[in-house]
Amino acid sequence: MIIVMKQAASEEDVEKVKSKAIEQGHEPLTIFGVERTVVAVSGKVIEDNRAIMRLLDNVHEVIPIGRPYKLASRSYKEENTQIKIKDLIIGGSELALIAGPDSAETKEQTLETAEAVVAAGGNGLRGGAFKPRTSPYSFQGLGEDGLKMLKEASDINNLPLFSEIMDTQHLSMMEKYVDVLQVGARNMQNFKLLEAVGESKLPVLLKRGMSATLEELLLASEYILARGNENVMLCERGIRTYETATRNTFDVNAIPFLKMNSHLPVIADPSHATGDSKLVEPVALAAIAAGADGLLIEIHPRPDEALCDGPQALVPTQLNELSKKVSSIAKVVGRTLN
Ligand code: PEP
Ligand code: MN
Repeated sequence: MIIVMKQAASEEDVEKVKSKAIEQGHEPLTIFGVERTVVAVSGKVIEDNRAIMRLLDNVHEVIPIGRPYKLASRSYKEENTQIKIKDLIIGGSELALIAGPDSAETKEQTLETAEAVVAAGGNGLRGGAFKPRTSPYSFQGLGEDGLKMLKEASDINNLPLFSEIMDTQHLSMMEKYVDVLQVGARNMQNFKLLEAVGESKLPVLLKRGMSATLEELLLASEYILARGNENVMLCERGIRTYETATRNTFDVNAIPFLKMNSHLPVIADPSHATGDSKLVEPVALAAIAAGADGLLIEIHPRPDEALCDGPQALVPTQLNELSKKVSSIAKVVGRTLN
């Protein structure tokens, strides 16, 4: 950090800043400028220590150097993290097309949906069994029965299964059924859940909270990485803004920003970002053009019968169309889809 002193600062004020830095375990370097004195402190500085510096007499401002996330950052690890899940490698040249229902509803619906994913050239199956619903009166998911249906559909079609975990107590049960643990937007800062999935051997898909900054998303990933689980994927799923025309606002900037500043794979979810099946394809294409490593897409054989998120679900033929267009865009950005 750099501590910039006010012009009125006395030598004694500067000395106090230096002794505080030493107390915090750092070696301060004082630079006497024409107008202001600046104290530079190198090494790992935690935010609490910066906050204390701001309280000292005649400190004008405290500027952090570097970013607060470490394990997730490109400076910690230069090469892209690639995550192997069955036959799928996420974060390499091949794109991930993970599609499926919002939630498992019936055995037939999950099977039909998984077959549609394979037919469209998809390489991952998504589907919820534990649903974080805004209203307690809405469909909450089928729980373990839903996971059984999803696992069967994923095994038959050889598709790795992505499903949301909502409770630390479900971890060992869920590990029996799923290949990737999804942490949903509403739980992005559920730190106990992050720590629990950090202990798991399964990869984690971490969704951006609806009002979370990218720094907060990366710090949330840090909780998982710090527990030893290196297989974390970040997911941009739209954020809440003043715009009400769509369910959320897709933050396309997030994709190149995350790719530049982190080595972790980035997945885009245009379904939750838009909330409207008509907008899913164009936003999906934009995400791939912007450098996303894959897509998470909701589909349903009969969206008008869906128990959750029907308006944003593509029907299988729309997934086929999307997949073809994604393949074309993939070439432009040096990627492939099947
Ligand atoms: C989901 O993937 O079905 C879901 C609930 O997503 P999010 O956490 O992004 O709202
Ligand atoms: Mn959904």
